Amino acid sequence: MKKLLFILGFGFFIPLLVISNTSLDADPPQVYIEVPDEVPADTPFNLTLSASEPVTYTIKYAGLELTEVAQNYTLSLLAAEGLQTLEVSAMDGSKNQSSYSYEVYGIATLKASMSLSESVVAGSPTSIKVAWPADGLQPSSVAVYVNGVLEPLYQKGNEAIALAGIPLGSPSQTVPVQAVLADSYGRTVTLNKQLTVVADEREVENLNLTETTYSVVTAEAQEREREALDGAYQSARTRPLPLWREPFVIPIEGRMTSGYGTPRRYISGGNVSFHTGADIAAPQGTPIRASNDGVVLISNFYPIKGGLTVIDHGASVFSFYFHQSKFLVQVGDTVKRGQIIGEVGTTGLSTGPHLHWEMQINGVPTNPLDWVDKLLP
Ligand SMILES: [Zn+2]
Repeated sequence: MKKLLFILGFGFFIPLLVISNTSLDADPPQVYIEVPDEVPADTPFNLTLSASEPVTYTIKYAGLELTEVAQNYTLSLLAAEGLQTLEVSAMDGSKNQSSYSYEVYGIATLKASMSLSESVVAGSPTSIKVAWPADGLQPSSVAVYVNGVLEPLYQKGNEAIALAGIPLGSPSQTVPVQAVLADSYGRTVTLNKQLTVVADEREVENLNLTETTYSVVTAEAQEREREALDGAYQSARTRPLPLWREPFVIPIEGRMTSGYGTPRRYISGGNVSFHTGADIAAPQGTPIRASNDGVVLISNFYPIKGGLTVIDHGASVFSFYFHQSKFLVQVGDTVKRGQIIGEVGTTGLSTGPHLHWEMQINGVPTNPLDWVDKLLP
């Protein structure tokens, strides 16, 4: 009996409602909604709404709430990080309302950090490491600039490592170091730090070479050597990763006659240039050892550098051995740390048997002794 009464009562109520509302609309509006379920955070995404009739939309997303009267409506929203709820409600002129709720996941931007040494002496190597969480979003590209110069780098797991040579003769100054990372969504993250460069001030060494000795230095000879090196650097691009696993070794035992980085004048009244390697005097024929693992890029005689071997150690790091009398390796050979590659001589611009040993990063000379007894980077 009770149940029957209820039904009767309800049936009576509806006609009353119809009478009081002349528009006769009891149906809530239907809304077709297009929204992505995953979006890169900090970038805009579109929310597209199409209703069956004109409505008042109320949209709530990541702390934002707005209303708009429309039937078809497209809105650009700035994606927030993490799981966010997007709520849409639509109300028609008869106050009929429909509500919709979606979960939108905002993919976080790259979380990266950069580390480098605080200061470096002019003419020395330095390394810059950019790291990001191994389990998060991975960068699609990483670039490192030291004082505006793009440095070669290589990736190892969730780190990118750049080796840079601070040019000889650089004054004491603070230079900007910048890392730019991009992700596959086109977003970039820029990290900025400062590097203090300390000048290496030294007195000019006057070599007072005779005209005959210095006569090998001609514009033509310099051009020929430069071309050979440019070609070698090009072929080295195929080895972006370091081939070395241990610190570098000094290629020969002997007396250091002219240190790296000394400003020198070859002839009286001549121009001052920096000594880009370390000179080690040793008897003619003393075996020269590869300072580390690598691949022979050059093994040939040149007018100024004399008998020259260049070894590519990967990661844009090269070792140079000048003034040799004899070669014991060929271009393309893979060499091991400590392997004999040639013999000491006095070929090219030289006044006695010695080895000029040079260490370059991407064509920039660095102090060879900085590579000994410690593992870089
Ligand atoms: Zn030298």
